[in-house]
Amino acid sequence: MKLYEKLDNSTSHKKIIELLAEHFQRLEPAEVKITAYLALGTIGPRFEKIDLGIGDKYGIQAISQAYDVDMEKVEIAFENQGDLGDVASDLNDRQRSSLTLKYVFQHFVQIRDVSGKGSQKRKINLLAEVLSQARPLESRYIMRIARGNLRLGFGEKFLLEALALAFTGSRNNTAKVEDTYNICTDIGQLGESLAKHGMSSLGKFSIKIGRPVQMMLASRVDTMEGLNEKFSATMAAEEKYDGERVQVHVDRDNIKAFSRRLTDISAQFPDVIEAVRESVKAEKVVLDGEIVAYRQGEFLPFQELMQRRRKYHVKEYVEKIPVAVFFFDVIYLDGKSLMNRSYPERRQVLEENLVETEKVKLAGRVVSADFSRIQRFFDACVEKGMEGIIIKSVKAKSTYRPGKRGWLWVKWKKEYIEDVRETFDLVIVGSYHGKGRRKGSFGALLCAVLNKSEKRYETLAKVGTGFKDEDFAEINDLLEKYAVEKQPVNILVDSNMQPDKYIEPAVVIEVIGSEITSSPSHTSGQENSGNGYA
Ligand code: ATP
Repeated sequence: MKLYEKLDNSTSHKKIIELLAEHFQRLEPAEVKITAYLALGTIGPRFEKIDLGIGDKYGIQAISQAYDVDMEKVEIAFENQGDLGDVASDLNDRQRSSLTLKYVFQHFVQIRDVSGKGSQKRKINLLAEVLSQARPLESRYIMRIARGNLRLGFGEKFLLEALALAFTGSRNNTAKVEDTYNICTDIGQLGESLAKHGMSSLGKFSIKIGRPVQMMLASRVDTMEGLNEKFSATMAAEEKYDGERVQVHVDRDNIKAFSRRLTDISAQFPDVIEAVRESVKAEKVVLDGEIVAYRQGEFLPFQELMQRRRKYHVKEYVEKIPVAVFFFDVIYLDGKSLMNRSYPERRQVLEENLVETEKVKLAGRVVSADFSRIQRFFDACVEKGMEGIIIKSVKAKSTYRPGKRGWLWVKWKKEYIEDVRETFDLVIVGSYHGKGRRKGSFGALLCAVLNKSEKRYETLAKVGTGFKDEDFAEINDLLEKYAVEKQPVNILVDSNMQPDKYIEPAVVIEVIGSEITSSPSHTSGQENSGNGYA
């Protein structure tokens, strides 16, 4: 577990990658697997629902038990420090030999798996057991993993680069490793395989039921002329639904729905799962589509659908906000990947394997080479209240490319032509304390864009206006969830712009502004410490 300390104390991207890579090289393949998960603060792939069931109360009890300290004392320390990891390391005054990640991992697996009567006590005992064997700093990380807030300041991208460096001989192979990760989204499994077989393992992965692939994305054009350049012959234009992307894996009775971020959202949408069960003919199939709020043939606003993102009162909201799923692709059928088949072939398979019902639909579309026909379809979609259309290539090479945003799918939205000013999707990386009416809340948000080649977030704007009253509570909750103690290594902030709190890049907001200016204080697009864009 010494690795954590080293990682936590490193602020350079290069150094972190090197530390991770050196560490990986010293491990057995099976250890690479668990280390990859644990470095991200978890014990399995991101598409698995992993709930250790350790709340603050259990954490406090475990610390009290492990270090023989009164509960009250632990509670007071927690109130003062706000982080159970820090509390654990402060109260732990034992010097022992370092724990292995394997030992820690096994304990977490046991904690996850206990259930039934007496499981509370058992979970606390297990956590107390591992804490009591840990050195002070180790107990900090163990506690943070148990609470689900490890946050070493890096994510999957760093790990993939480190795996490339460790097992393919060069970080130049990172793009290839990332491509494979788009298909095998289990980072532990990918790491283990790279450790065993090196580069040669990369081509071997294929889609598997239960393990979602990254979703294919669409590029954008702003004008009809732009579209004209990209599609010279026949094209398919599909309705573009404004809802939540979903990849549904059907394995006979076992049906799972995954979000765009590949989390398992089945529990949020029991009605979708049921509807798919009734409508799908194949035994094993993977479908790609969009869930929308939908009542008796009418599309409801996206905000309504957002209320379905919940852990509690799911049943009540199934009634309150009915949904439908519109499928537009199929990428696996009865043991075979369809990702290398063309879009027209996949569409045919989709139509053959789905019976449309009130809640399960095929995406509406027209196929034509005539732009005026496409334009009329677009107008009709906008009329129906849709966002626009997605044009899809029908050529022989129109394969499904997981995680790629290419020109096989092109989106064309009404907002592009409505003379609306450009909006920006920005990531919140920091917040400033509010004053006056906003005391106790945030006053402004420091927002950034991703610089892909440098793998870091660069600031573009401090956003302080335009929020609705009802936004504050939601944003405050999110800020609290993602607040980190120190500046994450992948966020570049000019010294004029230091926020009161740093926020781990996770929350994206859509921002409108009247112009782009050059700024000495923002770092986006900055070259050699000159001005950036604001
Ligand atoms: P981005 O894709 O740029 O990250 P976004 O999530 O806001 O942004 P859009 O750009 O608006 O998405 O459009 C792409 C999304 O549209 C897809 O990810 C998918 O969720 C949705 N979508 C709706 N209808 C379709 C369709 N018929 N085919 C493909 N995608 C569709």
